[in-house]
Amino acid sequence: MTEAAAPRARPDFAHRPMLVFWEVTRACQLACKHCRASATSSALPGELSGAEGRDLIDQVAGFGHPYPILVLTGGDCLLRPDLFDLVGHARELGLPVALSPSVTPSLTPQMIERMVSSSVTAVSISLDGALAPTHDWLRGVPGHFERTIEAIGALAAAGLTVQVNTTVMRANLDELADIAELISRAAAHIWEVFFLVQVGRGVASDAISPAEHEDVCHFLYDASQYGLIVRTVEAPFFRRVVAWRRAGQPAPAGDLYLEMSGKLETLMGPATGRPRAQTASTRDGKGILFVAHDGEVNPAGFLPLPLGNVRDEPIAAIYRDHPLLRRIRAADFTGRCGVCEYADLCGGSRARAFAASGDPLGEDPACPYVPAGWSESAADGAD
Ligand code: SF4
Repeated sequence: MTEAAAPRARPDFAHRPMLVFWEVTRACQLACKHCRASATSSALPGELSGAEGRDLIDQVAGFGHPYPILVLTGGDCLLRPDLFDLVGHARELGLPVALSPSVTPSLTPQMIERMVSSSVTAVSISLDGALAPTHDWLRGVPGHFERTIEAIGALAAAGLTVQVNTTVMRANLDELADIAELISRAAAHIWEVFFLVQVGRGVASDAISPAEHEDVCHFLYDASQYGLIVRTVEAPFFRRVVAWRRAGQPAPAGDLYLEMSGKLETLMGPATGRPRAQTASTRDGKGILFVAHDGEVNPAGFLPLPLGNVRDEPIAAIYRDHPLLRRIRAADFTGRCGVCEYADLCGGSRARAFAASGDPLGEDPACPYVPAGWSESAADGAD
């Protein structure tokens, strides 16, 4: 059997995450309205030092093959003075490294060249509107939209894998089709769509209803047929939608869905590609782990529950043994998620369950699906 034809090993999320996010700094020059980190203009006290950071990278490599992807995020990771020392250390050990910089004057052509020469695997850039007023309002910087589009094009032209992150809010719902078209034209490779969780500065932003979440997920499935890889963050029920659509179920006839998909077809023509909706069954704490600027470990960036600190405990022990993460990985949920046939594939956003009810194992209120077993369990008095 050739290497290309070898079956891919099933990810063993009980032992190693697929993605480790490390918030290398909280510092950022922007003040986005929905910032998860409530980033500040300068680094907060207690940030992991360079030596501690290299030790953390050694620990992440200690998870073994296939290595997790190390995502260096912030704040603005470019404000970390030793960023490329850290990238170099991770690459020497063989870890894939992705960067999540803010679009500021620091993101120069020279900086992009340095990313390329440091063998950075991918770079993610945030774009939250297809029109300058929407994006600039959310980012709080006039002219930021133009600079963001330029940055996406420059990163792609440099040969980097470019991921565009978009947070779905009421303010940009009617621009999502335009964003898909815009980033396809700018040669981005991946569209990662974040569904708002009420943490950080996201508290003040305008969330959408469960029916609208469902319509957006169906729209994203359609958008994945135009060459972009489409993924979601804090909307694992996208996988249920993908499973339904792959099984031949029709898209819903909701007004929002019809409007968005109609607009997409008008802008980009009929879909011709195969769907590229990515559906690895990760969720906060299952395949995903987050390390805050001060070394505190959380199940995810949007789920700020302290699990331990890498200054005191090996990250692998925290990931593998923490009782909450074990329950999350075992899909040991309550509410509708607890009886749902998609609990393992999806499992709901643990961050949104926690934000809504204080219970990280509760149901995800953004999902409108009523599992077959729900009415029976409700009648039996189960939670
Ligand atoms: S009920 Fe929960 S597990 Fe089922 S599809 Fe919805 S969010 Fe996912």
